[in-house]
Amino acid sequence: MVPHARFGQGRLVTIEVDRGESLTVSVSVSGCEPWTMVDWDALDQERRIKERIRLGLLRILAASYDLSPSPWGILTGVRPTKVVHALLDAGLSWQDIRLELIEIYALSLEKADLLMDVARRQRPYFHPAPNNPVSVYIGIPFCPTRCSYCSFAAYPMHSHGHLLQGFLAALRLEISAVGRLLRELGLEVETIYLGGGTPTTVTGSDLTQLLNQIGTELHTARTREYTVEAGRPETLSLETLSVIREAGVGRISINPQTMHGSTLSAIGRQHTVEDVYRAFDLAREVGIPMINMDIILGLPGEKLPQVEYTLQEISSLGPDNLTVHSLAMKRASRLKKALDVVEMGHEQGAAMVNLAGEYAALLGMVPYYLYRQRHILGGLENIGYATPKTASIYNIQMMEERQTIIGLGGGGMTKLVSSDGSLVRESNPKCPATYSQQMKARLPQKMERLRQHLSG
Ligand code: SF4
Repeated sequence: MVPHARFGQGRLVTIEVDRGESLTVSVSVSGCEPWTMVDWDALDQERRIKERIRLGLLRILAASYDLSPSPWGILTGVRPTKVVHALLDAGLSWQDIRLELIEIYALSLEKADLLMDVARRQRPYFHPAPNNPVSVYIGIPFCPTRCSYCSFAAYPMHSHGHLLQGFLAALRLEISAVGRLLRELGLEVETIYLGGGTPTTVTGSDLTQLLNQIGTELHTARTREYTVEAGRPETLSLETLSVIREAGVGRISINPQTMHGSTLSAIGRQHTVEDVYRAFDLAREVGIPMINMDIILGLPGEKLPQVEYTLQEISSLGPDNLTVHSLAMKRASRLKKALDVVEMGHEQGAAMVNLAGEYAALLGMVPYYLYRQRHILGGLENIGYATPKTASIYNIQMMEERQTIIGLGGGGMTKLVSSDGSLVRESNPKCPATYSQQMKARLPQKMERLRQHLSG
C-alpha cells in the first residue's frame, strides 16, 4: 500500500497489492471510483505490478477528468517497438501480443496494429549475435547554419568552419584505428551511416578523401547499406553528389522539413524550396539509388493545409523513404522563445500524422521504424516509411539496439550490445574543437574497450 501519494487538490492516491494465489492490484483516488485488476498468471510480478498501477491510474484519471487517454496508453518509452520484440522473444503469439498491447498497455487498436506492423517488418533484420556484423556511425558536426529546433551536434560553418581541418585529421585517426581493429577481429560492417550535422558541408577533396578512407577501412564484403545524410539541400552540388555516388553510397537524405519558404526562413534554414527540387533532381541524375526525405509536423504557422501542400510537393518528387517527425517540445520551446507561435494539440497533431501516413501509402510506402520523444507535440510519434526493399537497416539497428554500433566523429554514440541484450552507451565529444584535441589521447582507451567487447 502507498498511502501518502497525493495529486491535484490534495486527493489521496492509495495502491494495494495482494500477492496471493493471484496478483491483485487496486488503485483508488479519493473521490473517484476505485479500480482493481486480478492476474492469475503474472510471471514477472514486479513488472506486472508497475504496469497495473499505471493502468489503474490512467483509467481512474481519464474517467474522473473526462479525458480521452493517449492512444499510447501507459507506454511512455522512446522505443515502443521494443515491447513487441520482447514479447516475441518470450514466445508470445502475434494474437497474444495484440491483446497484451491493448489490455495491459492500454494502446488504441490503431497504435497496437502499427507497432506490430513495424515490428514484423523489422524482425528479418535481426541477427543471432549482436557483434558480427556491426554497424558504424560517423558524426560530422557541421552545418551551414543552425536550425532553431536543432538538438543535434551541429556547429555553423560561418562560426566554426576554422575547426573543420583539425576535426577531419582527428577523424582520419579514429577511422583508421577502428578499421584496423575490425579487420584484425574479422568482423563485418553491415551498415555505415554518415550523419551529423550535415556531412555534405564537407566538400571537394576533403569529402573525396573522407569517403575513400571509409571505403577502404570500413566498407566490408557484407556491407549492405551506406548512407550519407545530405539533409541541407543547399550543400548539394552536382560535384558533391557525384563524389558520393562514385564512393558507392546507396542512400542519402535530403530533408526539406517543409515546402514553405516562409517557414524555412522562420526556423533558420538558409535554403529555399527550389533548392530542394534542384538537389533531388541532381541526386536522381547522378543515380543515387535511395533518397529519404524528412518532414516535421507542427512547425510554426503550419496547420493541416500547409502540411498537405508539403506532402503533395514531396509526392511529386517521389522519394524512396519519407521520415515524418512531430516537433518535440524541447525544441519547440526554443522555437517558441524565438517566435512565440508553436502550438499543436493532440487532435491537430494526430490529423497531421494520419495525413502523412495516407500520403506515404499513396507513394507505396509502409512504416518500418518508429520512435517517440519526450515532450513530443501532441504526444505523437516519429515514423519512418519506405517503399519495398528500401527500409534503412541502420535506422532499424539503431532504434532497436540489438546490434553493436560503433560511433565515430563528433557526438558519435557507440552502443555496445551484449548477447544477453545489455547495452553500454558511450559518446564522443560533440564539439569539433574538443573532439580534435582529445581524440588522440582517448583513442587507445576506446580501442581497448571495443576490443574487449567485440572479442568477448
Ligand atoms: S540541418 Fe539538422 S543537424 Fe543541421 S542544424 Fe538543422 S536540424 Fe541541426
